[in-house]
Amino acid sequence: MSYDIDNIRDEFPILQRKVGDRQLVYLDNTATSQTPHRVVEEVVAGYEHTKANVHRGVHTISQEATDLMEHTRRRVQGWINARSFEEIIFTRGTTESINLVASSFGQRFREGDEVILTVMEHHANIVPWQLLRQRTGIVLKVVGINDRGELDLDQYRSLFSPRTVMASFTHISNVLGTVNPVKEMTAFAHSRGVPVLVDGAQAIPHLRPDMQDIDCDFYVFSSHKMYGPTGVGVLYGRKELLESMPPYQGGGEMIKHVSFEHTTFADLPFKFEAGTPDYVGLRAYAGAFDFIERVGIESIHEHEKALLDYTTPRLLEIPGLKIYGSQPQKAAVISFNIGDAHNYDVGFLLDKLGVAVRTGHHCAQPLMERLGIPGTVRASFAAYNTFEEADALIAAIKRVVPMLM
Ligand code: PLP
Repeated sequence: MSYDIDNIRDEFPILQRKVGDRQLVYLDNTATSQTPHRVVEEVVAGYEHTKANVHRGVHTISQEATDLMEHTRRRVQGWINARSFEEIIFTRGTTESINLVASSFGQRFREGDEVILTVMEHHANIVPWQLLRQRTGIVLKVVGINDRGELDLDQYRSLFSPRTVMASFTHISNVLGTVNPVKEMTAFAHSRGVPVLVDGAQAIPHLRPDMQDIDCDFYVFSSHKMYGPTGVGVLYGRKELLESMPPYQGGGEMIKHVSFEHTTFADLPFKFEAGTPDYVGLRAYAGAFDFIERVGIESIHEHEKALLDYTTPRLLEIPGLKIYGSQPQKAAVISFNIGDAHNYDVGFLLDKLGVAVRTGHHCAQPLMERLGIPGTVRASFAAYNTFEEADALIAAIKRVVPMLM
């Protein structure tokens, strides 16, 4: 079946809007992707027809709301091939999922224990470990990259020591687009008895991660980067580990029984879901998986790759333009600078031409330091982007360059 881009675009009303008098060209998908109308309709239905608090209600709409939210949990479980629905914890997103693991799993770490990270991590996979370092005295070790933006895997292996207690790394870099060999990296960590967290925030819109194949211990992602609603996300955790971990937050929903003397906690996954969840967002989140499945994750991947392969050489023809990250199998993320022009000025002028890109350090300041730059301009593609939009980006850059040089 051919890729029906018109039909796909019809599902996203925002793509029709204008910025000033220009047609919007949305190329900031790495930061957040747009949401199909059907998913938005589910949010509306959640508020207009089924708004009742979940899990504790005997009345009909509470049970309906609960069933819809739990349907999404099964959808996530099936999509990522987790062994059990108990391994799917709903959170506010990737950031909260990593904080949960660092706070709860991290309670067992002691002064001098070592956690391995990489230089290409988003701040969400750095700062929670630094907060843990302040509390416990753990040591952070960092894997570097080569000039193509690929991890130095020899260094990765060499960083393991008898004190290593955790390795935590991204599946796909949000700046370089590099796809890391997470399965091999996990296997190596496990051969040393070390558990692994994979930050899947940038992988989940482009590929279908299989938990039993990758075999990592934790995998985290956000709905809003994969065509879903904002404010919800997932922590996948291996059941035995989740069972061994203390709760992250206390409150309603996560208990079996409370007295002032003693409280017992709920079973998985609820032990880690204190308080009222965003059950409307979670209900609608199932629609994001439906969208990806309808279009086909492989087709999305191929389409984005074709856009990347089309755009990259054309951008490189522009004098002074430099792209960061050139791994052959990289995701459709293009981070670049042009001569000495400030990334912010480039992004600002592109916006005046209707082209939405992200500028700055992309929450990856250690990576910027490694690259020796303050930031980049970043254009990134999603399922609904077109070759005309790629041309619009290229033309817009050619137009702004003379204004900046
Ligand atoms: N990790 C990576 C690789 C990301 O790209 C992002 C967001 O850009 C995050 C974590 C944080 O995601 P969120 O803000 O949805 O928690």
